[in-house]
Order: sequence, then structure tokens, then C-alpha cells
Amino acid sequence: MKAHDGMYIDGAWRPAVGTETIEVVNPVDEQVAARVPAGTAEDVDRAVRAARAAFPAWAATPPAERAARLAALRDVLAARKDEIAETVTTELGAPLKFSQSVHAAVPVAVAGSYAELAATYPFEEKAGNSTVHLEPVGVVGAITPWNYPLHQIVAKVAPALAAGCTVVLKPAEDTPLVAQLFAEAVHEAGVPAGVFNLVTGLGPVAGQALAGHPEVDLVSFTGSTAVGRKIGATAGAAIKRVALELGGKSANVILPSADLAKAVNVGVANVMSNSGQTCSAWTRMLVHRDQYDEAVELAATAAAKYGERIGPVVNAAQRARVRGYIEKGVAEGARLVAGGPESPRERGYFVSPTVFADVTPGMTIAQEEIFGPVLSILAYEDEEDALRIANGTVYGLAGAVWAGDEAEAVAFARRMQTGQVDINGGRFNPLAPFGGYKQSGVGRELGTHGLSEYLQTKSLQF
Ligand code: NAD
Repeated sequence: MKAHDGMYIDGAWRPAVGTETIEVVNPVDEQVAARVPAGTAEDVDRAVRAARAAFPAWAATPPAERAARLAALRDVLAARKDEIAETVTTELGAPLKFSQSVHAAVPVAVAGSYAELAATYPFEEKAGNSTVHLEPVGVVGAITPWNYPLHQIVAKVAPALAAGCTVVLKPAEDTPLVAQLFAEAVHEAGVPAGVFNLVTGLGPVAGQALAGHPEVDLVSFTGSTAVGRKIGATAGAAIKRVALELGGKSANVILPSADLAKAVNVGVANVMSNSGQTCSAWTRMLVHRDQYDEAVELAATAAAKYGERIGPVVNAAQRARVRGYIEKGVAEGARLVAGGPESPRERGYFVSPTVFADVTPGMTIAQEEIFGPVLSILAYEDEEDALRIANGTVYGLAGAVWAGDEAEAVAFARRMQTGQVDINGGRFNPLAPFGGYKQSGVGRELGTHGLSEYLQTKSLQF
């Protein structure tokens, strides 16, 4: 697609206030693929005003009509799926097949789920002598990252629109093109002017202006813990609602009764997919000490197979960060069994699929989010030890448990301090609430729980 040189505000592409631009770089060949405007606080203010002006009418639009617009949006996203996949491949570097099957396909499912929910959700309930109305919170400021660029946009915008909120989106600076494509899709779907607005720009400028804008009622943010903390503090000072999705260090717990080869292979695939840039990735594999050597060998073999298939990470800074973690792992005494810090190719921000054995729970690579194709394998003594290690980080976003019998896996999963657990390789469910325990965040996305983030209650007594 051709990049727009303006902002999508109040139903049209309008010139940016400033002249600064952001270069969009293709991570595969390091070439500039496009330029988009770098929004200022004034652009953000215009967008928020448009969203505020559009709010009363959209909030009063019958849910069935909001549902119809979301169904139309789902259909446009489905019709333009090839263009979406190509755009994500250009700006994120994801292999085209993965862009098609995940980056383009998942948003269609999520938009569809909210088209259905908007039509069927009970926006009114009875409680004794009261009628409780679930009303939209107001103007939403959505700030999204680059790793699943369209999914993270749709996971915020679709429930916000279903609830009757209006939105200003500030997408990640690395992946603004798919955000522009999304704005085109919203327009094509017949969503009224001002209900959705897009301002591209830098985090500390446009993002900060959006998070701090007094006319924004709710800030929904996905990204790093450092920025999330800042946004939470800003929202707290203004007493405004905030939802934070801040990444994780999830455990893949393989109990002794599990199918070891399957658990290891699926676990490695989970970490390497999207070049390890998945906040819910199971980056710590926990294996009983009696099965440890076998698991390490299986994982090293599986990782080596990804060598040619894996895409680059998003940019040079991210590659430097991931390499830094790999070097730190070596320095702290972990044993490299696949990959390493050297670049596998001359051009592009590639990192080799990397596996560490002999990782102990206190090591940096077992505690911090690396956000690259790096897996740590840890040994446990018994179930209690496995649980201690699994729960022993500041995060709690996701995880996996493998066991010979489902009930055994469920019993373990119930003791994990984490928001989502896949049992014996359970499939992705776009209706399951997604979000973190502990420092992985505040609030939930997807399904009815994701919708309720954008609603507030009013009780009428009779
Ligand atoms: P980031 O937190 O800096 O960026 C996320 C979004 O926040 C972007 O849109 C960015 O422009 C915006 N932003 C940045 N500074 C801001 C500010 N002061 N005020 C308001 N908005 C601001 O994340 P990043 O630099 O893209 O990635 C850094 C690390 O964050 C990654 O290595 C990874 O560990 C983590 N991360 C997590 C997720 C996740 O899904 N939880 C996604 C991306 C990155």
C-alpha cells in the first residue's frame, strides 16, 4: 500500500500539523520502505476533539447498528487480507506465510467476535430493585506496539467501538503502515466520522500527549513495562481508567507424565514464532531433572530447524538488545546448545534461534523479557520446585502445562500465578480473556472481559 502523508481525523485524511516524518524500515533488507508523519501534541488534540464530538451520537447508536459496522469492518479486513499480510511483512519482517496465517487472519476473527458480541451482549441487567445500565466509558486513547501490529489494534478498537466508545489510536512507530490500512478499512466499513481517529508519531511525543490528554477517559496500552508504568502513573494522577498489557516471562511446564517430544517441539515453535517477539511466549521451559538431557537435545534439534525459516527482529535496537541478553546468558554461566549472539546473515536484523541449557532461576535470561528467539531450559526437582520456578518472576501473562492426563495438568495450572495457560497444547481462542497477573498488566483483552473494560455501570433504583 502507499503510505498516507496525513492523519485520519474526523473521517478524512488531514495534513499533519508539523513537517517531521518517521521512516519505516524493512527489517529484512534495512531499506526505507515508506515515510509517515510524526504527529505532534496538536495533531493528538485535534484527534481527541473529533473523538469527543463524535462520542454522544456513537454512544447512543443502537448496539445492533454498531454490530453491523463491526461486521462490515471484519469483511473489509477479510477482503484485504493479502494487502495486510504484505504490509506487515514489509514493516515487521515476518515471513509472508506467517503474516497471512496470523497477522492478517487473527484480526478478522477478533473483529468478527466483537461484531457478534455487540449484537448479543446484555448492556442492561437487573439487580433486585435496580436496573444496571452498562454504558461506554467515553474517549479511548489506544497505544499499541509493533509485534502483532494489527491484532493489537483490533483487540482494542473493536471492543471499544462495540461498547460505544470513540477512539484515538497511536500505533508503534515501527509499524504505522498497517495502522493506516486499518483506518482505511474503518472508513470503508462506514463507521461515522470521528468515531475512530489515527495519529502516527513517536511515543514520547504523540503517545505521551494522548495518554495525558484531559479529554481522554481511558488509556489502553500494550508495550514495555517501563512505558506502562509511566502511563499508569499519568492515568492515576488524573483518576482515569487504564488498561496495561506489559509482556511476560511465561513458563512451559513439562510434567514427567507428558509426551516429552511433543511438549518440547511445540514449546520451541511457540518461542521461535514471530522471531520470539510475542509477549505471551513460553520462554522458560521447565523439565524434570531425569528428563532434562533428553529435552535439551530435542530442543536444540528443533531450534536448528528454524534457522532458515525465521524472520528478523523488528529493528537494529531490538537486535542489539536480544544479542546483549544472549551474551549475558553466556557470561552468567548458561550453556548455549543452539544459536548464539552472532548474526546469521550479513543484511537484515536477524538473530539465530537460540537455546540455553543449564539455566538457573535467578539468571537474567530466566527473569527478564528478551523479546527475541531465545529459549531457556531449566531443570526442576519435583512439582513444588516446578511451581516455585514457574511463579518466580515479576510477570504472569501466560504459560503452558503438559501432562499425561488433563486433570493433572489442570491441577498444576490452577496453582500458577498467570492469566492464561494452555493445557497440553490447547488452541488459541479469540474469546478467552487475555491479560496478566502481577506486573504483566492491569485489565483483560478479548471476549466479554475485553468488552467490559470499555463499559461503566449506572444503577437506577425503582
Ligand atoms: P514501548 O513500550 O516503547 O512502545 C509501545 C508503544 O508505546 C508504542 O506505540 C510507543 O510509541 C509508545 N510509547 C513509547 N513511549 C511512550 C510514552 N512515553 N508515552 C506514551 N506512549 C509511549 O515498547 P518498544 O520500545 O516498542 O519495545 C521495547 C520492549 O517492550 C520490547 O523489547 C519488549 O520487551 C516489550 N514489548 C512488549 C510488548 C507486549 O506485547 N507486551 C509489545 C512490544 C514490546
